[in-house]
Amino acid sequence: MSAALANQSASLAGARVSNRRATRAASARGRAVRVNAGLNIDLKGKKAFVAGVADDNGFGWAISKALSEAGAEVILGTWVPALNIFETSYRRGKFDESRKLSDGSMMEFSKIYPMDAVFCTPDDVPEDIATNKRYAGNEKWTVTEVAKCVEEDFGKIDILVHSLANGPEVAKPLLETSRKGYLAAVSASSYSNVSMIQHFGPLMNKGGACISLTYLASERVIPGYGGGMSSAKAALESDTRVLAYEAGRKWGIRVNTISAGPLGSRAAKAIGFIDKMINYSLTNAPLNEKPLEAIEIGNTAAFLCSPLASAITGETIHVDNGLAHMGLAESAPEISQ
Ligand code: NAD
Repeated sequence: MSAALANQSASLAGARVSNRRATRAASARGRAVRVNAGLNIDLKGKKAFVAGVADDNGFGWAISKALSEAGAEVILGTWVPALNIFETSYRRGKFDESRKLSDGSMMEFSKIYPMDAVFCTPDDVPEDIATNKRYAGNEKWTVTEVAKCVEEDFGKIDILVHSLANGPEVAKPLLETSRKGYLAAVSASSYSNVSMIQHFGPLMNKGGACISLTYLASERVIPGYGGGMSSAKAALESDTRVLAYEAGRKWGIRVNTISAGPLGSRAAKAIGFIDKMINYSLTNAPLNEKPLEAIEIGNTAAFLCSPLASAITGETIHVDNGLAHMGLAESAPEISQ
C-alpha cells in the first residue's frame, strides 16, 4: 500500500471511529433527552381553588392531593356548615396520614374559605340561612364574595375545581320529586358550577382550567339516584360544553368534567346504596381487579389542568374502570346462570 493510500485509509478509519463515537454520543444524548424529558405533570407556580372538601374521603381531597403532588398551591372553599368540624379535625391531625405526599412532605392548604355555592351574592341568602347557627361566625361566603377575597389574598388563579353536589330529595324517584327538591338539586349541583366559573373566570390566568365532577346517571338510568340529581348531572355536562366555548373565548380557559365511578365518600354514603354500586362496578366493569380509587380521579384532574391537556375542553371524561361502556351486567342472574 502506498504511503498516500495508507494515510487515506488511516484517516477513513479514523473518520469511521469518530463517526461511531459521534453516533454513540448522539444516541447517549438521545437517551439522556428521553430520560430527562419524561412527561411530568408540572403545576409548579400554579394556584388552584378547590371547592367541596370537608374530609379526606372525597374526590375534592384527592384532586387537591394530586394538584399538590404536581406542585400547585391549593386554596379551599369549604361548605359553611361543614367548615368547623373540618378545621377542627385538620388541626387535631386527623388527616395527617392522608396529607402525606410522595416526597414525604405534607399537603398544605394556603387558606380555607367558608363557602356556600348555592348563593351568588348576600342578597340571595334567605333569612333562615342568614340566621342559621351553622352559619354563625362566618362571613363573606357567597360565591362573589369568596371570589373577591381570593383575588385580594392571592391575585390570579390558574385552576378552579367544583367538587360538590347536593340533592335534598336524592332518595326519591323522579316521579315523586317535588319542584323545590328538583330545583335545589340543580341549584347546588349544576348552577353552582356556572356561578363559580362566572365569578372566578375573571381572575383566572389565560391557559387556566376548570374541572367539575359528574356521574353516569346523566346519560344512563341509575335507579336510586333520584331527586333531580340525574337531571343536575346532565345539565352539568351540557353546561361544560357551553362554558368551554364561552369561557374559552372570553378568558382563554378550558372547562372539562370528570364522570367518576362510585366512591364511598360522605356524600355518596348519604345516598344509601354506594356499597352496592361499588360491588356492582367491581363485578361488571371492564377493569375489575380493584375498586376505583379517589386518587385516580385526582390524577386525571391534574392532567386535565396541566398544559399537557392544552387542547382538551368541553369534554366529559369517564374515569370509572370503563363501567360506562357496558351495556349488559355480566352479573345479572339471567346472564350469569
Ligand atoms: P364529598 O362528600 O367528599 O364532597 C361533596 C362536598 O360538597 C362536601 O364537602 C360538601 O360539604 C360540599 N357541599 C355540599 N353542598 C355545598 C354547597 N352548597 N356549597 C359548597 N359545598 C357544598 O363527596 P364526593 O362524592 O367526593 O362528591 C364530589 C363530587 O363528585 C360531587 O359532584 C359528586 O356528585 C361527584 N361524584 C361522586 C361520585 C361518588 O360515587 N362518590 C360519583 C360520581 C360523581
